[in-house]
Amino acid sequence: ADEALIALDTIADRATNLLSPTLRLGVTGLSRAGKTVFISALVHNLIHGGRLPMFEAQSSGRISRAYLEHQPDDAVPRFQYEDHIRALVEERIWPESTRAISELRLTIEYESASAWGRMLSRGKLSLDIVDYPGEWLLDLPLISKDYASFSKEAVELAELPVRKEVAREWIRLAESVDPNQDADELLARQLFEAFTAYLRACKEDTRALSTLPPGRFLMPGDLDGSPALTFGPLVRLAEGKPRPSSMQAMMERRYEAYKSHVVKPFFREHIARLDRQIVLIDAMQAINAGPEAVADLERALTEILECFRPGRNSFLTSIFSRRIDRILIAATKADQIHHESHDRLQSIVRRIAERAIARADFSGATVDVVAMAAVRATREGTVNRGRETLPVIIGTPMAGETIGGETFDGRTETAIFPGDLPETPAALFRKGGTDPASEPNIRFVRFRPPLLERTAEGVTLSLPHIRLDRALQFLLGDQLA
Ligand code: GDP
Repeated sequence: ADEALIALDTIADRATNLLSPTLRLGVTGLSRAGKTVFISALVHNLIHGGRLPMFEAQSSGRISRAYLEHQPDDAVPRFQYEDHIRALVEERIWPESTRAISELRLTIEYESASAWGRMLSRGKLSLDIVDYPGEWLLDLPLISKDYASFSKEAVELAELPVRKEVAREWIRLAESVDPNQDADELLARQLFEAFTAYLRACKEDTRALSTLPPGRFLMPGDLDGSPALTFGPLVRLAEGKPRPSSMQAMMERRYEAYKSHVVKPFFREHIARLDRQIVLIDAMQAINAGPEAVADLERALTEILECFRPGRNSFLTSIFSRRIDRILIAATKADQIHHESHDRLQSIVRRIAERAIARADFSGATVDVVAMAAVRATREGTVNRGRETLPVIIGTPMAGETIGGETFDGRTETAIFPGDLPETPAALFRKGGTDPASEPNIRFVRFRPPLLERTAEGVTLSLPHIRLDRALQFLLGDQLA
């Protein structure tokens, strides 16, 4: 049945593609990686003719018009572009983050670069942008795992030193459950809540550990409270097959329901139809939290990449109707450091990506890496201190942010010395902690979105960015050639 559905989807997709070329771009990343901000900035810069020198189609003036159109999938919520832009541009606050899947169609009219191209193509590309939580991708390994192995692995991970402390409450509750006792709805709910609280605690700032499956526990979308989500791993498991009305049997049924009603349809209906993918990562938060968080980010990225590699995984092979041929791994928020550190950030990200690619044994798509800021909230300057001239970044820190005992009011522009990233990425990957001499020393402040510049004629310019143009060139350049 899976295959028949895919075949229909594929035929429908191909038919529309003949009439007007479309490109489905997936935008993902773990929560708060910067998906919403990235999509808003991409669309804003294309609609308003932003400054994108490295995005050739735009900088050479071949794009005549870009505009929003009705999206093709009626059952998927629309990406709330207008609300997000109002927040960013008018209120200068960061928009609401991605909580579930959404979609937006941007149509680009352009003139082909070659005479041939101008004769052959209609010069119109529909870009379908699909925004979805990276947490949902981490569910892929569950498909080939039964409930007992899912439980065993969850318990093993919880025993690792980094997680042990935060897992304590959940382990205590799960240990107290006899797998053969009668199924109990209230207890199921408690187990779900305790496990979710543990997953949430792993993500807190100082730990900055990436999420573990089930992905919907932290990002439920519209499934909050449904039985397919009300389960959790057990510490003690029945020997052999559990009694049908027992606690473990109920957990198993719900786990299987989660896989067949939530995980599989998501991959089939959305992931299998993508042409290109950008994976956003908050590398700086991980770098700042230390080598364990960096290793953890690498692990999450490995698992994410595995979702785009049909071949090994038979479920994936059965559903993919087309192949993702380009993947961009992008570290956002580079505007929080001075441009002298941008290349360093990029090489750290490259190193994380290379290790993840090797571990995922990934091949088949071209993968590139960029350190960027979808929205640039700062500008650069220098401050003289004694005889030294220090590079600083200047922006309006958000109300309540603190640095060195000073608390900001959200209205005052301030110069901040952001610190340096280590010169070589190697230090971040060393086992047993970083070398203190090369430990990153970044001072983090969250800035408000920027005040948009106006030209002498009173025209408001589009959202400023760092290297968004490079990202666009990699993701779309060849489609607009
Ligand atoms: P999502 O969960 O992936 O949708 O993440 P968002 O796009 O909502 O971004 C999360 C937060 O990261 C935002 O509220 C901002 O504080 C910050 N952020 C995201 N992108 C940028 C950027 O390009 N520059 C800066 N300075 N901050 C960013």
